[in-house]
Amino acid sequence: MQKKIISLKELTKNLWWSWDTEAKQIFEELSPLLWERNNHNPVELLRHISNDELAARCHCKYRGKIEQVHERFTRYINETDTWAARNAPELVKNPVAYFSAEFGIHESVRIYSGGLGVLAGDHLKSASDLGINFVGITLFYKEGYFRQYLNHDGWQMEDYPLQYPESLPIEKVTGPDGKDLIISVNIAQSEVLAQAWSLKVGRATLYLLDTNIPANESHYRNICCRVYGGDQNMRINQEILLGIGGVKLLQKLGIKPAVYHMNEGHSAFLTLELLSNELAKGLTMEQAMESVRSRCVFTTHTPVPAGHDRFSRDMMNYTFDKYLTRIGMSLDELMKFGSEDPSNLNGLFTMTVLALKLSRAANGVSKLHGEVSRAMWQHLYPGLSVSDVPIGHITNGVHASSWSCGYTDSFWRTYTESVDEMTSSRDAAEEVLAKVSDAEIWSLRYSLKRNLIDFIYRYLANQLYHQHAHPLYSEYDTPHSEKNALSPDILTIGFARRFATYKRAPLIFRDLDRLNRIINNPKRPLQIIFAGKAHPHDDAGKEYIRQIIEFSRRPQFNGKIIFLENYNLGVAKRMVSGVDVWLNTPIRPMEASGTSGEKTVLHGGLNFSVLDGWWPEAYNGDNGWAISHGEMFQNHEEQDRFDAENLYTVLENQIIPTYYDRDEFNIPVKWIRKIRNAIATIAPEYNTHRMVRDYATLYYQQNRKS
Ligand SMILES: *Cc1c(COP(=O)(O)O)cnc(C)c1O
Repeated sequence: MQKKIISLKELTKNLWWSWDTEAKQIFEELSPLLWERNNHNPVELLRHISNDELAARCHCKYRGKIEQVHERFTRYINETDTWAARNAPELVKNPVAYFSAEFGIHESVRIYSGGLGVLAGDHLKSASDLGINFVGITLFYKEGYFRQYLNHDGWQMEDYPLQYPESLPIEKVTGPDGKDLIISVNIAQSEVLAQAWSLKVGRATLYLLDTNIPANESHYRNICCRVYGGDQNMRINQEILLGIGGVKLLQKLGIKPAVYHMNEGHSAFLTLELLSNELAKGLTMEQAMESVRSRCVFTTHTPVPAGHDRFSRDMMNYTFDKYLTRIGMSLDELMKFGSEDPSNLNGLFTMTVLALKLSRAANGVSKLHGEVSRAMWQHLYPGLSVSDVPIGHITNGVHASSWSCGYTDSFWRTYTESVDEMTSSRDAAEEVLAKVSDAEIWSLRYSLKRNLIDFIYRYLANQLYHQHAHPLYSEYDTPHSEKNALSPDILTIGFARRFATYKRAPLIFRDLDRLNRIINNPKRPLQIIFAGKAHPHDDAGKEYIRQIIEFSRRPQFNGKIIFLENYNLGVAKRMVSGVDVWLNTPIRPMEASGTSGEKTVLHGGLNFSVLDGWWPEAYNGDNGWAISHGEMFQNHEEQDRFDAENLYTVLENQIIPTYYDRDEFNIPVKWIRKIRNAIATIAPEYNTHRMVRDYATLYYQQNRKS
């Protein structure tokens, strides 16, 4: 095989390409159609293209492009002068082991459900960029999370297409003998075996445990079927595999983590496995706990008590029976680690409590969420005031080069070396902005919005085809007609996220007459793009989707309100880059952080959000808009009425007039001033490079307890 073909194939085996604009382009250039059809999966793309074709095509300019990208990739992998080498050398030696039930790295690797996974993926990428020695641990879900489609009535349906290892950039983990590396965990009375896969993400490695092997009983082979699939029993089995299996895998690989980072409570059983290792060495329980604590850090993501994983004593007894015998611990001793009330060991076992008890540091994911978490868990720390509860905060960010990859990244790189450079400080961002004219920013906005609209037309054609909905087809097909066409001239709002009810997707529909007047204002119209999945068990969330579909089919909204099926990382990327305004309407303070609004900023998108999650920290009055001022009502109906009224008022009196207010060159000068302000104040702060540096200095480095 030609050297260039080997280089190209090598690039597909490390997801580094997913945040490099030119690397993506060399795949897309091979066949734009196959690239899109195969979910931007280069492994799959190359399976469709013969070596003869590749060899032939490598004889022109294309060859040089591969060479350049491959050279940059090699330099990246071998770089030793990194942030970590300069600032945290101990984190270059032993790795940080980051455990998460999901990782959202790229749409072609479907092992994530939503924001928690995307955060984990972005964390992994930044850790790699910063040169921190870093391994991720998760499960290999052969069905991933579901694919969403809507039936005639707008009701969400789910299907679960399989993903095959040979279509993914993953490799079987083998032992020194060259055979598959196998670990085992005790579940109930069984010994459950798991193999492992590895996935390269820049310099970091992600390990995926997989029980789908013939040696296991069939119900244990299915543990890794779906992300958050199944019942409580499935959930506890997944969490045992992730936490306990993960520690065992690292041991078998000879990896000795300096720090274990639990991303949410799902992986907290890892502390038990570490504890059992210490007890086996002959340490007392106190000493063993201290040793575990000194190596573990925990990030909580759930501001609602009901959102935390809990298991009954019966279930703990049944599932851990053999495990407890092996490590010599009683059920009561185990229950003590997870009980909110130490005087009642017959209640529920709470994963967050276990994680808090056996970590040296814990944090929420925004300033507000830190406060909420301290209040929520104060009862675990008798005698401490709320403000002394040892839970800090590190506000979530997004991986800037992933989320700007493509047109926006190329745009900024005409003025700066990289978006990482541009977002390294406010000064750096302002320096770049000073070189860019208003007309250029406006041109960026138009290009991105045009890309989104073109994408929507292609996507909708496919979506409607699959709805098999002949009578509705023509009705719903109107975006193609002249009168109702989506247009980049029109102010465009985006709303996309999980359809958890607290996010209140239908809030903007509370007053349909008012919305009608806003949307159909002939001089200053508005269009809105929605997307999002409801959890398969969440009928209330599905009802919200159905309502929005129904509204979107009404004549006055037809073609102005669009719902895109099957929200995922690919759709998210299109939406956050194309829309003018990113709408966020959670019930305060239920959004721990939220990150999607942070993704829109480098594209020149502006946030319009309830003051929840990251937004109260970032909002300065001139870099976006707030819905309400943080007022909180006990009554949800009252809260909705208040927030909706505020939403309409700000939209009518501020957002729409600012957008349509143009100078003699038809440029919305005040709007662009806000874009500049957003980029300067938000992009340098709410990115994962800053976030991971915070984790490194506050939590990962020894003797730097927060
Ligand atoms: C960023 C992202 C999320 C998280 O969105 P928030 O609601 O802002 O937390 C969820 N899903 C996908 C696909 C994303 O890209």
